[in-house]
Parts: sequence; C-alpha cells; structure tokens
Amino acid sequence: KEHMIRTHRMEAIAVLAGGIAHDFNNILFPIMGNVEILLMDTAEDSDSHKYLMNILNASGRAKKVINQILSISKERQGNTTQMLVQPIIKETLSLLRESIPKTINIVQKIDMNCRPIMADPTQIHQVIMNLCTNAYQAMEDGGGTLTVALCETDIDENELPRFLTLQPGRYLQLIISDTGVGMEKEITLKIFEPYFTTKEIGKGTGLGLSVVHGIVKKAGGDIKVISAPGKGTCFYIYLPVLGSYMETTLLPSIGNKCMKG
Ligand code: ADP
Repeated sequence: KEHMIRTHRMEAIAVLAGGIAHDFNNILFPIMGNVEILLMDTAEDSDSHKYLMNILNASGRAKKVINQILSISKERQGNTTQMLVQPIIKETLSLLRESIPKTINIVQKIDMNCRPIMADPTQIHQVIMNLCTNAYQAMEDGGGTLTVALCETDIDENELPRFLTLQPGRYLQLIISDTGVGMEKEITLKIFEPYFTTKEIGKGTGLGLSVVHGIVKKAGGDIKVISAPGKGTCFYIYLPVLGSYMETTLLPSIGNKCMKG
C-alpha cells in the first residue's frame, strides 16, 4: 500500500511539473525570440549586446532545466523505436571511462544475446549515464567498483507483488551497482522524487533519478533499489523485451492496421 501511495504521489508530481514546464516553455519562447531579434540590430561591442547575451544565456539554461523536467513527465514521448541496449551500455561506459579516475573499476557483464526493446535510444543512454554518474559520485573518495550487468529474465505471477505496475512477461534486467557510500532506507524512499538531493549546491540538482524513473516507466518498465550505508547501492531496471506483452498493449493501433491489411 505504501508503495502504491508513493507511486501515485510521484505521478502527481510528474504531471504537475510537466504542466509547469510546458507553460514555462511557452513563456520562454517569445523571450528568446525577441532577444535574438534585438541582437541582430545591436553592435557586437556595445553594452546592450552584452546584456542581451546575458538574457539569452540565462534563458538557455532555463530551457535545459525545463527539458529535464519535461522528460520526467509524460509530455515527451521521445523517438520510440526498436533498439538494442547492449551497444548503448558499451558506448556509455567508454565515455565514462575517459572521464572518471582509475581508482574506480568498471566491470561489464553483458549478455550479448539480449533481445531488443521499444524505447528511445537517447533516453536509455540518459538512464545509464545518470545511474553511472551517481554510482561514480558515491565512490569518489576512495574508489571502488561500478558493475553494469544485462540479461533477460522472466517476471511471472509469483513475482508480481514486487512489481505492482508490470505485467507478467519477459524483461531485460539491467543492473547498475556500486561499492560506494550507500543510503539509509528512508533516503531510498525519496530518491526518485524531483529535486530530492543530498549533494551540495552545484553538484546535484535532484533531477537525475526522477528523469530515470520517468523514462523507465514510459518504456513500460520498472526500477528498484537496494542499498546499505557504507556498503553500496544496486539499481535494478526492468524493461519489457520486444515481443513480450508490449506489442499488444502499447502498439494496438499498429497491430490493428496490419490485421486489417
Ligand atoms: P542528484 O544526483 O543530483 O542529487 P539524483 O536524483 O540523481 O539527483 O539522486 C538523488 C539522491 O539519491 C542523491 O542526492 C543521493 O543522495 C542519492 N543517490 C543516488 N544514487 C546513489 C548511489 N549510487 N549511491 C548513493 N546515493 C545515491
């Protein structure tokens, strides 16, 4: 029951945030448009040009935040397509390897036979990147091991009580775990809420995991976390394998069209 209340609360926040973000986008649009027009009539070395550029840059930052909030909400569906997760993991990890210290090991356990899912590749990249960045930040002092694992798994009726929002079927199980600072149980209950952060100002926005949560839900999946203070954290992401229940529930119109010829 507690889980249900939390899920509903998260959905309400996401809908609210999505509405606000949408309105802000509409407000920002004429601001940026008009500043751009003024900039064309202003000499580049003038003070006015400098002030107008400040407005444009600040508006650009606001737009970035708005886009993050929109990806939490259901407003933006993304470019959903049939895709493999394996190459996205490889690509994300090689990007990450270059930017994090050598004191952090990266271990990959990827079953290359995993079948495709229906999702937006850019969004799946964002999920992996956000989770790995958090994992890295949790191990920043002292190093540790980041493990990324991918395999297929069945979720049957017996397991459904753990996954209230899923239907029985075949899923990709993506595991991202770290040996970092970990979290108390009370913290794990709040981490998917927008703007929840324990990080200092400038380091965290508190939006990363709510973006992850929104994307996973949109792809028909679910996310779980297990953590222990001082030991580490493990995120489990479940995404329905294409050809599992997805085709009949999320793509009924395409299916019907094919049937009618
Ligand atoms: P941010 O990273 O900007 O704070 P997130 O939504 O990504 O926002 O994460 C919210 C909070 O969840 C973090 O501030 C941190 O307290 C906690 N958290 C997330 N991932 C981990 C992790 N791998 N290990 C420990 N704590 C984590």
